Amino acid sequence: MDKTLIGDYLGTTEEYLAGDGTYTEDGKIYAAVIGEKIMDPDRHSVAVKGKPMPDIKPGQIVFGEVQGARKNMVNVIVSKIEGLKESIEFKTGLYVSNVSNSYVEKVEEMFGIGDIVKARILKIDNDLVDIETRGDFGVVKAFCRVCRTPLEKKDDINMECPSCKHKEKRKIAADYGNVAQL
Ligand SMILES: [Zn+2]
Repeated sequence: MDKTLIGDYLGTTEEYLAGDGTYTEDGKIYAAVIGEKIMDPDRHSVAVKGKPMPDIKPGQIVFGEVQGARKNMVNVIVSKIEGLKESIEFKTGLYVSNVSNSYVEKVEEMFGIGDIVKARILKIDNDLVDIETRGDFGVVKAFCRVCRTPLEKKDDINMECPSCKHKEKRKIAADYGNVAQL
């Protein structure tokens, strides 16, 4: 069976009851976790059975991939906790106010889809995990929006594509390029 990804459309609330591992928005049901879609015809329900949440706590340093940015938040799928061997997979949200100590207007300018982010877990509320990239955290690997070549750091905020010379901005981690742990 195909793996359901976070944000995948599953149906409408008129058709189904929204079960575990889903969320609803404007009458539509979406996957909230990565896993297997489970339809229950008797209850007319849809759920997503994902990997159980790992034992995580605020302050832990995590690595993940930017899945998308919208409104005031970046969605990051965490795949690694610093110091832990096993692979994990959970969704986190990076709110614009948690990106930097300085003011950030548009998060979608500071993170690109597919970028690898090093962040710290800020708080955990049920299965909703907030992360922050204040201080030394940020992208450790970023990709050109035009040609997908890894970007080179120019200064604290500016990056350039060595291939097509496209200039971009990022919230850059102090140890940009250090992805040895991944
Ligand atoms: Zn490029």
